[in-house]
Amino acid sequence: MTGRVIVITSGKGGVGKTTTSANIGTALAKSGHKVVLIDTDLGLRNLDLLLGLENRIVYTIVDVIEERCKLKQALVKDKKNPNLQLLAAAQTRDKTAVNAEQLKEICDILKEENDFVLVDCPAGIEQGFQNAVAGASEAIVVTTPEMSAIRDADRIIGLLNTKEEITSVKLLLNRVRPNLIKSNEMMSVDDVVGILEIPLVGIIPEDTGIITSTNKGEPIVNDENALAGKAYRNVAERILGEEVPFLDLDEPRGLMAKIKSVISKLKVKV
Ligand code: ADP
Ligand code: MG
Repeated sequence: MTGRVIVITSGKGGVGKTTTSANIGTALAKSGHKVVLIDTDLGLRNLDLLLGLENRIVYTIVDVIEERCKLKQALVKDKKNPNLQLLAAAQTRDKTAVNAEQLKEICDILKEENDFVLVDCPAGIEQGFQNAVAGASEAIVVTTPEMSAIRDADRIIGLLNTKEEITSVKLLLNRVRPNLIKSNEMMSVDDVVGILEIPLVGIIPEDTGIITSTNKGEPIVNDENALAGKAYRNVAERILGEEVPFLDLDEPRGLMAKIKSVISKLKVKV
């Protein structure tokens, strides 16, 4: 088997790379695919927290590289889904503990036994980024609809385009708030796609459930009722090659607006 190695990257920090990695990884594993998530954010490990696996980590990627354990020993199985495994980042080591060649080697080994290897990239365009992309052949660029994040995403897309091994670069737009787009306080999906000019793989709404799910250590894709969960499940299906229409994020607000207008009419009558 040769699995697909996808790097989840952004340029700017805090736009949702780790959230995206945890959710897409979980969704792909739930649909029966073997997945390994690699946390390459040395010093800032948090993919383990999102998955609720922080207490199960014995070895990290640095232990593998410095040969204190075998690669297999460092893979932590997800509690709910044995198809999903995590290779954790070291919390304390400096960023020079890993180089691009070593990361590529790890990806090359893992893709032989897995359908997907998802690499959660640190922020920035320095060594951490170079390491994270080294073994990948596909990239998902995460951005929010803010100019600073879009600018950094644009820079990352430029860098990804220089890498011969990367054959696909797709956009995931996170923290979208349709009501703000309507009131012209937020850039629209079309605006962002127009600037970055890469194909869209997902639109994820702003959802406070994501923050709660992070605290609980359970990705929101496990919540059947959450809109962001549905949006991430759709991303996983698109990655698997299915044509899934983008969610109409307006729906909940449309419904609320309808209810409000009915209530206001009633009030008039009363
Ligand atoms: P990165 O890995 O790019 O630094 P994270 O995935 O850690 O970003 O997300 C940064 C913060 O934003 C986290 O607190 C996360 O819970 C929150 N967040 C991410 N996506 C959303 C969303 N769609 N709605 C609400 N909060 C979000
Ligand atoms: Mg992160």
